[in-house]
Amino acid sequence: MQGMEPEPFAIAGATIAPGTARDVAFQITTLATGTPSALAIRVLHGARPGPAVFVSAAIHGDEIIGTAIIQRLAQECDPQTLAGTLLLVPVANIFGFMTRSRYLPDRRDLNRSFPGSANGSIAGQLANIFYREVVGRCTLGIDIHSAAIHRYNLPQIRIAAGNTRLIELAMAFGAPVIMESPLRDGSLRDLAHKQGVDMLLLEAGEALRFDRLSVETGVAGVNRVLAHLGMIEADDGLTEVGIPARANRSVWVRSPRGGVAHFVRESGDPVRKGDVLGCVTGLFGEDAQDMVSPADGIIIGHATLPVVHQGDALFHIAEIPHPERVGARIESITAAILASEPQGAPEALLDEDEVV
Ligand SMILES: [Zn+2]
Repeated sequence: MQGMEPEPFAIAGATIAPGTARDVAFQITTLATGTPSALAIRVLHGARPGPAVFVSAAIHGDEIIGTAIIQRLAQECDPQTLAGTLLLVPVANIFGFMTRSRYLPDRRDLNRSFPGSANGSIAGQLANIFYREVVGRCTLGIDIHSAAIHRYNLPQIRIAAGNTRLIELAMAFGAPVIMESPLRDGSLRDLAHKQGVDMLLLEAGEALRFDRLSVETGVAGVNRVLAHLGMIEADDGLTEVGIPARANRSVWVRSPRGGVAHFVRESGDPVRKGDVLGCVTGLFGEDAQDMVSPADGIIIGHATLPVVHQGDALFHIAEIPHPERVGARIESITAAILASEPQGAPEALLDEDEVV
């Protein structure tokens, strides 16, 4: 791969010349209506040799924040100045994306269906194509998720615990928080790890919504990783990155009763053990029961829906010592990200209510 002249890149029956981009599609299956369906991939094959990297979104079909991030990357990245190959998959779970659902029509979770099989269910077929044709061609993948519906995640990179190469790449990405956690069986990261493919998982924002911090963090983070790998030039803005907070333990705070929740803290806030995060009341505002943080840390996810049942998970807290110091750093990272001028498709950042 590291020869003087890059070879053409072959995928899906297409041969892509160095320095050019091409959209390709893999037929997945025939739907119940008899119509075919296809997985769309943009391949940017650099004029200079280098590694192959994929960026994927919406493996959970309603987690569309990565789709906005990939749209920006697709518009901004120039294969003429690129070293290596970038494979962009704006929507991996094409079926769940259409129905605004996390799952597939066969009610399976694509991210628990890897490696799948060519003769399997709809989930198995899609997982198999994605694995064989995208993951199998790359040495690094960045897979983008969001929180579930009615939840918000502070942009955070999740990596397999104890892998120094992944820590280095996660630091290069520069999201406010890095979470190190064990891999789940059958997940894309689990399989990639077994095949020697490095993977970063970005969690950011809310399902079915776009928000500016998540999109800007994702675009800048992917570009920083590509610059770190020597695939693109690092411009001045990209190199200024704060040191993210790192954690390998997190805890959920659940609703102490059913009713109406009032939150006083949100994602990004530092909290001390015993700090009040909010309360849950009855329908008339009576019998308020406080929720308190069980640990020192940073809130990395929160519920956005105030209608709650007893036991609903409402706050996700990464356990981090000296949370105020780390919180100030996170504030400076997010402020720096938001201070950058938005570029490219401005419609991607509109508030939901503004879209007719
Ligand atoms: Zn997900």
